[in-house]
Amino acid sequence: MRALACLFLCSGFVTAADPWKLDASFTAAKPADLQDAATTPPPAGAIVLFDGKSLDAWTKKDGKTAITWKLIDGAMEGFKGHGDIISKQKFDGRFQLHLEFRIPYEPTGSGQGRGNSGVYLQGRYEVQILDSYGLKSGKNDCAAIYDIHPPKVNACKAPTVWQSYDIVFTAPRYENGKKTEPARMTVYHNGTLVHENAPIPVDNTRAGMGGDPAKPGPILLQDHGHPVQYRNIWVLPQK
Ligand code: MG
Repeated sequence: MRALACLFLCSGFVTAADPWKLDASFTAAKPADLQDAATTPPPAGAIVLFDGKSLDAWTKKDGKTAITWKLIDGAMEGFKGHGDIISKQKFDGRFQLHLEFRIPYEPTGSGQGRGNSGVYLQGRYEVQILDSYGLKSGKNDCAAIYDIHPPKVNACKAPTVWQSYDIVFTAPRYENGKKTEPARMTVYHNGTLVHENAPIPVDNTRAGMGGDPAKPGPILLQDHGHPVQYRNIWVLPQK
């Protein structure tokens, strides 16, 4: 019987480790990295895209199919195979996006295979979400404008801990069909400035929705096969 139990327990059929708990092999550089980022409630005038209860502001990428991301304790969680989700509302001009996210603990993964997701402004320009804790951030790491600009500093918290992005996005400007100003982003990661009015010289970063960059676009959250969680998502239009 004991041999049988060992066969069962030792052969990988045991329940997978909880991705929302760190284990003894994880060490944080400082205690604050294990504390959730401060949550910022939507200010007056904000458009709430996720309040912890309803998925109604979102659809699949076809713009009409209801999404089935999981609702768990005030968060929504993507799962492999579901596909990206987009906000029903489209945005243009200048606006602030606030969102909070947390990355699962996937110690056996590496590189782009640990807690990968991403948030795309206008469905086109990705701010990467990834477990880049403790790394020297490159242009594909967490808080990078994907493949364009690495963050100025690595402001990551540990996986499983709530983090925040505050992104002030300015849409590109066009005159007579010609681009006169590129899209720009200022990004705060957990309250730390990581991009300051950074120009984005392309019309779409990898795996973005593309389309006419002169037109409004949605907020897109990426399904990259990892159970990343989101909460408290709102947009504040700016002058
Ligand atoms: Mg990504």
